[in-house]
Amino acid sequence: MEVITGSCLCSKVKYEISGEVGDIVHCHCQTCRKAHGSAFSSVASVADTDFKLFGFEHLNFYESSEGKKRYFCSHCGTQIYAKRDGTRHLILRLGSLDTDPNAREKNHIWVSQKASWYDINSQLPEVNEFK
Ligand SMILES: [Zn+2]
Ligand SMILES: [Zn+2]
Repeated sequence: MEVITGSCLCSKVKYEISGEVGDIVHCHCQTCRKAHGSAFSSVASVADTDFKLFGFEHLNFYESSEGKKRYFCSHCGTQIYAKRDGTRHLILRLGSLDTDPNAREKNHIWVSQKASWYDINSQLPEVNEFK
C-alpha cells in the first residue's frame, strides 16, 4: 500500500499514514466551523499505529471539549488532527493531505448546526447530530 502524506501550510508539521484512512465525514458542528474557519470540516479516522508525525514540537492543541484536543500547527494554524482521550485512533483533518487518501465519502454530520449561508448539494446522507 502506498504511503499517504500530508503537511501543514508552512510545512513544519508533516505526517505519513501507512494504513487505511476511514470513511470521510463532513462535520458541520459549530465547533468545527469556528476551528477551521469554514462551512464544515472534512475528517476521517486513522489508527494511531498507522500515523507517523514529524515536527510534533510545532504542534499546539486546543481542548474544545473535555478529553478532546484539536491539534494544529502553532506557526501557520493548519488543523492537523483531533484526538479523544482513551481512543486508539485520531481524527484526521483532510484539508491537510498532500496525496489521495483513497477513502470514500460517507455522510454529513451535525447538519443541525450547519451554517445558514451554506446549502449542502450532495447525494450523501445528512445526519442532524453525530450518528
Ligand atoms: Zn505550519
Ligand atoms: Zn464537528
